[in-house]
Amino acid sequence: MEKQKISLVIPMYDEEEVARQCYERVKKCLVSITDYEHEIIFINDGSKDDTFTILSEIAKNDPTVKVISFSRNFGHQASVVAGLQHISGEAIVILDADLQDPPELIPEMLSLWEQGYQVIYGKRKARKGESRFKLLTAKMFYETLTRLSDVDIPKDTGDFRLVDRKVVDAISEMPEHNKFLRGLFSWVGYKQIPFEYERQERLAGKTKYPLKKMIKLASDGIISFSRKPLKLVGLLGIVSVGISFLILVYALISYFFKLNELSSGWTSLMVAITFFAGTQLISLWVISEYIGRIYDEAKQRPEYIIEKTINLDQDK
Ligand code: UDP
Ligand code: MG
Repeated sequence: MEKQKISLVIPMYDEEEVARQCYERVKKCLVSITDYEHEIIFINDGSKDDTFTILSEIAKNDPTVKVISFSRNFGHQASVVAGLQHISGEAIVILDADLQDPPELIPEMLSLWEQGYQVIYGKRKARKGESRFKLLTAKMFYETLTRLSDVDIPKDTGDFRLVDRKVVDAISEMPEHNKFLRGLFSWVGYKQIPFEYERQERLAGKTKYPLKKMIKLASDGIISFSRKPLKLVGLLGIVSVGISFLILVYALISYFFKLNELSSGWTSLMVAITFFAGTQLISLWVISEYIGRIYDEAKQRPEYIIEKTINLDQDK
């Protein structure tokens, strides 16, 4: 019988410091899994450093290594999507280049897959070497997301996971932009199981997720999986209308019963105006986040542009 294949998807953005080590460690693991063939797909997400040169050298000596190189930085999620759209294996693993998610766990995950599970998602038991700020914001994000989201997205779960080909096909065919993969993987269903592990420290280099990218990911996650913020806007409106009504009642009572002269109205007027202006702007902001994403869909631009590939037959 022909051997089945494991496909690894590894996005890289300015990862020259870890690229070679990443390849070597991952390769070692894959070679030890003798029952399966393997391929490693590296996505060079518009790196400005020598990542691409290093990847080309690796790919020259190892035909199981395939490289997809973007024309610019399209972001982590888009890179993983590109990888998923080019795999040829039956079991697919998504990994970070900095090896925070140890590739040594693949055999264990694989045995769960052999038992019939279709999504084996890594759940972080501990996170080593990450700043307090990152831990705190991540916790806040996962809390908010679980509260708001309409699908059950597991907490403390990143993109590290082993998934069946069927699931990958379902996701890579989705036309939506700004994909929030860990949410989509929950959304599609199938037989899922968590896999606990300790998240390691970054091998070298700095995080490629500055605050701006974290906020983008968080808002993609919340907005594409929840309509509750829109409902909150409505609630905000009702509350502020309620408050203005109370102010009106208060003003009328004061007028008829001559409780106090409302010529001192400047303060109350200012309070009311700023309050309503504020709620309106907040509401507009929430709505525009949604409209912005509708706009992204309407433009129908591709999620990424591939400039070069290595060892990859383009017809797949
Ligand atoms: N990454 C990417 N494009 C980006 C940002 C990050 O391909 O715009 C990759 C990065 O090279 C790494 C993975 O996404 O393989 C996760 O990034 P990082 O380890 O910096 O994030 P953190 O672990 O700090 O959340
Ligand atoms: Mg990392």
